[in-house]
Amino acid sequence: MHLSKRSSKIDEEPFFIALNLPPGVLRLTGGEPDFASAPFVLDAAARALEEKQTHYTAPAGIAPLRQGIARKLKEDNDLSYDPSEVIVTPGSSGAVGLSLLAMFDPGEEVLIPDPAWFHYATLVELAGGVPKRVMLDVSDGFKLHGSKIEAAASEKTRAIILNSPSNPMGRVFSKNELEEVAGAAERLSLTVLSDEIYEKIVYPPNTHVSIGSLSGMRDRTIVVNGFSKGYALTGWRVGYCAAPQEVSKKLDGLLGYSLVCASSISQYAALEAIRNPESKQYVKMMLEAWSRRREIVMKYVNENSKVVSAMPPEGTFYAWIDVSRSGMDGKNAAQRALEKEKVGVMPGHLFGQAGRNHVRVSFATSDEVVEEGMKKFCASLKP
Ligand code: PMP
Repeated sequence: MHLSKRSSKIDEEPFFIALNLPPGVLRLTGGEPDFASAPFVLDAAARALEEKQTHYTAPAGIAPLRQGIARKLKEDNDLSYDPSEVIVTPGSSGAVGLSLLAMFDPGEEVLIPDPAWFHYATLVELAGGVPKRVMLDVSDGFKLHGSKIEAAASEKTRAIILNSPSNPMGRVFSKNELEEVAGAAERLSLTVLSDEIYEKIVYPPNTHVSIGSLSGMRDRTIVVNGFSKGYALTGWRVGYCAAPQEVSKKLDGLLGYSLVCASSISQYAALEAIRNPESKQYVKMMLEAWSRRREIVMKYVNENSKVVSAMPPEGTFYAWIDVSRSGMDGKNAAQRALEKEKVGVMPGHLFGQAGRNHVRVSFATSDEVVEEGMKKFCASLKP
């Protein structure tokens, strides 16, 4: 069958690595909470089924969910959106993909920090755009500077993708950094796609700031968020984006013509997650577990400073570990850990050139697996 040139842009390696680990491997690769969705969310979905909420919804989602999200954006993020400017999507992945279709024309450029979640560059290419990487620097703690953005941009650059808290770095961009990004975006007339899916997973004293809340940024930002990570609803597939009316209208249309709507039952589950006060407790319970596991990871990093180094993650459930002291790059280190000690980690090159000496360790798994996995991972790097 004829295959489009576009489809050749699909890189299967990341999925292959994550999904094809042999049985018996300690997995430090997971990209999702290791907790089930909260019981009250499950009950709400069961009720929606009993009530036979089994039909299409409006493409942009059920009204109470859009209202709940608009309220949440105001209360948590100081973002003012009318519910009509909120578009519910199948996962935040749906929101990212659709937003990119609305943001640039074929041949135009989109800036993507390097390292970053591997989906962004592929999705930009599939939409006909040209991903341009903004190289972050290990020696500088992977900080994002306005000058780096300006240096990477050309007259063909239309947008920048921002992801804070960030996968894979575990960084939470400070308000100062975001102000630098905002300044550069303004000078270069860029649209900002701000993926805030890890918003709820932040370790003190770090705090999450939405770039859309900075002065003058509302009109040039599409905010993306969702229920997968913070509420442990990955399999339900509910995310959303919020953007000024003329943009959200187009996103509504793109959704209606492509994916139609997020699952109706899942939208009722998400509605419960966002409006039930018990959610705060549930999120706190998960965060306590991830904070504890973050300490376990850092204990092993500090004890094995001859072969690894890492900054404590500021957010997310990922540690971004530099393995160059072992004499290996991230790819070799990941391979060696798998072969020698049966531990699975994600090699950093998947996230961009700047990650070639790193691996991403996920601590969204039990304390025991994190403890055993880190012990064996560090042991595997020793000569
Ligand atoms: N953004 C980032 C940075 C992610 O890491 C992920 C999941 N790995 C997503 C978006 C997508 O999440 P979902 O589609 O489940 O909302």
